[in-house]
Amino acid sequence: MTIDPAEAGQTTEGAAVVLASLENWLNYSDLTEPARRRRQWAKLLDQPLPLDSAGFDSAIAEFAENVIPNGLPVGAPGFNGFITTGPTTSAALAQFAAAIASPQRYGVSAFNLLEEVSLRWLAELCGLPAGVQGVYSTGGSTANVLALGAARQAAFAARGIDVGRDGLPGDVRAVLYASSESHHSIQRAAAVLGLGRGGVRAVPVDNAQRLDVAALEQLLLADLAAGVLPVAIVANAGTTNTGAVDPINAIADIALRHGVWLHIDGAFGLPAACVPELAPLFAGSERAQSWVVDPHKWLATGVGCGATYVRDAQFLHDTFTQTPAFYLAAGGARADGSAAGHEPAGWAFKDFGVHYDDLSMELSAPPRGVLVWIVLREIGRLGLQLRIRQHVGFARRLTDIARRHPRLEPLIDPELSIAALRYRPTGHPTEAEVDELNRAILTRVWQQTDIYPTSTIVNGAFAIRPAYINPRTTVEHVDGLVHAIIRLGDELTTGAPLQS
Ligand SMILES: *Cc1c(COP(=O)(O)O)cnc(C)c1O
Repeated sequence: MTIDPAEAGQTTEGAAVVLASLENWLNYSDLTEPARRRRQWAKLLDQPLPLDSAGFDSAIAEFAENVIPNGLPVGAPGFNGFITTGPTTSAALAQFAAAIASPQRYGVSAFNLLEEVSLRWLAELCGLPAGVQGVYSTGGSTANVLALGAARQAAFAARGIDVGRDGLPGDVRAVLYASSESHHSIQRAAAVLGLGRGGVRAVPVDNAQRLDVAALEQLLLADLAAGVLPVAIVANAGTTNTGAVDPINAIADIALRHGVWLHIDGAFGLPAACVPELAPLFAGSERAQSWVVDPHKWLATGVGCGATYVRDAQFLHDTFTQTPAFYLAAGGARADGSAAGHEPAGWAFKDFGVHYDDLSMELSAPPRGVLVWIVLREIGRLGLQLRIRQHVGFARRLTDIARRHPRLEPLIDPELSIAALRYRPTGHPTEAEVDELNRAILTRVWQQTDIYPTSTIVNGAFAIRPAYINPRTTVEHVDGLVHAIIRLGDELTTGAPLQS
C-alpha cells in the first residue's frame, strides 16, 4: 500500500467533475466574465501555502468551481487576437491522455513512434524535402533558437571552429539577417546564441511588408567586405504581424550565391503550403537549410507544440548534444548515428528511440507528436486545406468589405489569414486623429462584442488586426467585426451617446 497522500486513481470520478465544468466553459457565453470577476476569484485563489491536505475531492471541486470558469477564452469563436488558438477536441483529449499514458516522449511506445511519424507528416504537408530531421519543442520561439543554433554551428564550422564545443571566438562578429517585420524571437535567439540582439540586421520591407531583396544583398555584401560572418538569412513564411510571405526564391538565390544558411520562419504560415493555390507563395522554401512550423497555431493542437526541421542533423546535434550523460547511455540510436552505449537487460531503457534530447534544449519533455498525429488523422490533409482556405477567405472577405465601404480602409492585401483595417472618418482628420479614433473603436469592440481582434501598426498607421487561425470562428464573427467597427466609428464621430 502506498503512503503517498496524492490520489493516483479515481481518474474517471475526477474527470467527471472537471468535464462538467468544461462543458459549461465551452459555451463561451461571456468572454469578459473572468476578467470582470477577477476580484472575486483572485481572492479565493491567492492563498498562502497550505499546510493541511484539502484532499482530492476538495481540490478537484475547487478547481472545477473557481479555476476553469475563470480561464482565458483563447479558443472562443470570436477570439481572433493571438496567433495561437485553443485545441480542437481530439487534440485536447490527446494532451490529457498523453499525460497519463506516456508522460515522456522517449522509449519504445506508440507515443514515441508518433513523434517520428507526425514529424514526417508535418514536413510533407509543409512541402519540405524528404529526409529532413525534425524535433518538437515548446513553440516557435524555442524552435527558432534550435534552428539558428544549427546555423551558427555550420557558419563557424566552415571556418574550422566548433562553437558548440569551444564557444564563440572573441575576434569574429557574426550576424543574422531578418526583415524588420520578423518575429522578435529572432532577436532573442540571437541574444541566446551569443550574437547579441544587435547581431540581427533588420532588412527593410516593401509596401506589402515583404523583405526587400536588394537591400538584403547590400547589407550582406557590406558585411562580407568588413569581415563579418553571416550566420543565416531568415525568410518569413507568413509574418506574425500581417501574414506577409517574403520572396523566398529570390532570398534563396542570394543565400546560395553567398553560401549562407537559409532559415524559414514558418511558425504561423508554413502549413498553408499544403493548399495548392497558396503553395506558389512558398516556392523556394524547399531550398532552405532549416524551417520552423508551429502546430499550436494553424493545426490547433493546443499551446506547447512547435517544430524545428534541419537538412543536416549534425549541426543541430553538435550545438545541443548533452553527451555524455551516463544515466541516458542505455541504447537507442543517437541522432548522429554514433554508438549509444551499453545495452542493459531491462525493457524500456534498451530502446530509447531517437535522442531528441541531443537535438534540442529539453531532456524531459511530453510527447507532442501525438497531438499533430491526432489532428491530421482526424481531418487529413484535405481537412487542413479546408480550414486554411476558410481562414484566408475570412481575411479577404473583411478586406473586400472594407475596400467597398466609404468609411473603412484596408491597410494590407492579405496573403494569408490576417487582415488589417481602420475606420476612416469623413472630412480631413490628421493621421494622429485617425489613429486615436481607431484605438477608441478597438477598445469598445472588446468591451461591447464577443469579438477580440488585436491591433498593429502598418506603414506607420494604427490598424485593427484580426488573425484568423481559430477553427471555431465563423463568418458571422468576420461580418460582426466589420459592423461593429462601422457602428462604433459612426457613433464616435457623430457624437452620439456611447454605450461605454
Ligand atoms: C508565433 C510566431 C513565432 C513565435 O512562436 P511561439 O510559438 O509563440 O513561441 C515565431 N515566428 C513567427 C513567424 C510566429 O508567427
